[in-house]
Amino acid sequence: MKFYSTSNPSHLVNLSEAVVKGLAPDQGLYMPETIPVLEASFFAKFSEMTFQEIGYKVIGVLFSSALSDSQIKEMVDHTLVFDAPLVEVEQDVYSLELFHGPTLAFKDFGARFCSKLMSMLIAKSDQKVRVLVATSGDTGSAVANGFLGVEGVEVIILFPKGKVSELQEMQFTTLGQNITALEVDGVFDDCQKLVKEAFLDSELNEKLLLTSANSINVARWIPQCLYYFYAYSRLPKNGKKVVFSVPSGNFGNLAAGILAQKMGLPIDHFIAATNENKVVPEFLAGAEFLAMSSVQTVSNSMDVGNPSNFPRLLALYDFDENRLRDNVSGAFYSDSETVKAIQKVNKLGYTLDPHGAVGYLGLVDFLKDHPGYQGVFLETAHPGKFRDVVEESLGEKVVLPERLAAFLEGEKKVIPMKNDFEEFKGYLEGLE
Ligand SMILES: *Cc1c(COP(=O)(O)O)cnc(C)c1O
Repeated sequence: MKFYSTSNPSHLVNLSEAVVKGLAPDQGLYMPETIPVLEASFFAKFSEMTFQEIGYKVIGVLFSSALSDSQIKEMVDHTLVFDAPLVEVEQDVYSLELFHGPTLAFKDFGARFCSKLMSMLIAKSDQKVRVLVATSGDTGSAVANGFLGVEGVEVIILFPKGKVSELQEMQFTTLGQNITALEVDGVFDDCQKLVKEAFLDSELNEKLLLTSANSINVARWIPQCLYYFYAYSRLPKNGKKVVFSVPSGNFGNLAAGILAQKMGLPIDHFIAATNENKVVPEFLAGAEFLAMSSVQTVSNSMDVGNPSNFPRLLALYDFDENRLRDNVSGAFYSDSETVKAIQKVNKLGYTLDPHGAVGYLGLVDFLKDHPGYQGVFLETAHPGKFRDVVEESLGEKVVLPERLAAFLEGEKKVIPMKNDFEEFKGYLEGLE
């Protein structure tokens, strides 16, 4: 399979180049040239298949031209080491829990798949790959944990000093091995700028093989379609139409759901649910797409004013805005609505995190006006990961899962770094 750039559909590359480069040279996002459709016999029996078996099939039809069956199996087995249970919260409303991975957020799926695929693609080369990531929290922890111990790859994480929650920071500063954390004296945008400058520096790129593992990389994006197949296969077969509500920031997760639909999964409709960073819901309601600066909210992993996967949403509908608007409805919610949803659902016996709460709201509002549907909202993080907000909303303690609590016992190791490209470059040049 070849991949095209959303900025220039005639620019085609192979899988290896798409994954190792991440972003196309014209700054477009890579997209599969053709999207295969799964046969009806798969959908007739997928409710009896395991998550892994569904994974072999779906990843198989997508990647069979580039990878062997055993490589596909190895990748899926490495990725799907934790479950994604579907939990009924109220009638026709299901939570798809995507937080059972090592860092308790759905980004673990993409990060694990990406690390495995990258290590396979570079296995033949003897050059070490350096993955540079700027993070404001969740990405750093998922990427660090996904790449931990992967041979031939060294991960360098840049994070803004004092601007990342303690729990998030401990998840990427205590690991050691092939993971190094640079504590930058600046804000998140400074970290991102240092990384961008490194990718553009010709001297550095002659000496080192630098790559990125952020959410626009196809290797992080594509595997996210797997849990849509799995969730759908576990819904009751009652003749109701199916809608998915996706709490969104950069819109990679939603775009992966649409990919599953294009592969034949009979999802009827999507809801793009956001916090006050509502560029996409406003576009879906008919406005022009206008990036803005991000506003801070209680669902901070979705505080994105210029969603990076937006071109991918358009590309999935052949750049026809009206088809996108017909298939996806937008909804956005304030912090106080989010907190009220956490409180309401807690009374039903279920604890939402602030991101899942936004997805829940989008779903129940849609169901009010659309009888004959059942729906799934994506619960993208464990409530313990955002315990400040959840505990304040509920007035009670959230119990941290053991694997999260374990990070707090590790020893934090960081390299302090000024917000200065020459210092960063010097550090990279000093690497073996
Ligand atoms: C990253 C993230 C999101 C947003 O996902 P996108 O694919 O960027 O839309 C939502 N919830 C949580 C908890 C996240 O970490």
